[in-house]
Amino acid sequence: MKKIIAIYPGTFDPVTNGHLDIIERASELFTEVIVSIAVNRNKKPMFENEERLDMLKNVTRHLGNVKVDSFEGLLVRYAERMKANVMIRGLRAVSDFEYEFQMSLTNKKLNPGINTIFMMPNEKYTYLNSSLVRELASYNANVDEFIPPYVLKKLKEKFGY
Ligand code: ADP
Repeated sequence: MKKIIAIYPGTFDPVTNGHLDIIERASELFTEVIVSIAVNRNKKPMFENEERLDMLKNVTRHLGNVKVDSFEGLLVRYAERMKANVMIRGLRAVSDFEYEFQMSLTNKKLNPGINTIFMMPNEKYTYLNSSLVRELASYNANVDEFIPPYVLKKLKEKFGY
């Protein structure tokens, strides 16, 4: 069977159970999954690149065909360098669709050989995103069910409780 290398790009600030759900499903579908942090110098993330890499590595340790990386610049060029043939995006709700549709068509124009595949998480994660987790955690609200235990530990350290 053809080897399929898939890239799952995102900010992962921090990685949530929704992301992890997609990563676990993807690891069963593709030969190799590269979860990659998109570094954007104009955005100030809550967790530094190194911290996000560390959290991603830790929570995907049980998945033998998943690698963690980061990249700067155009996703398509990065995918070419990594010899990837698939890019994965998560679709939570209709509100994600318009932006994702535009992105995937643009990327297809830049390289028709790389396909974007959309994956839906388990419905219990459809409303979840990293900014919700950051917001709740900043008020010391309970976020246990949204993030893996290791990320919870790091979040608590960040907020000093
Ligand atoms: P967010 O801040 O929305 O979590 P990311 O840039 O980290 O954004 O997301 C990376 C990718 O993961 C995107 O394709 C996004 O749609 C997807 N994603 C984020 N959260 C979830 C979730 N709860 N379920 C499924 N996909 C998700």
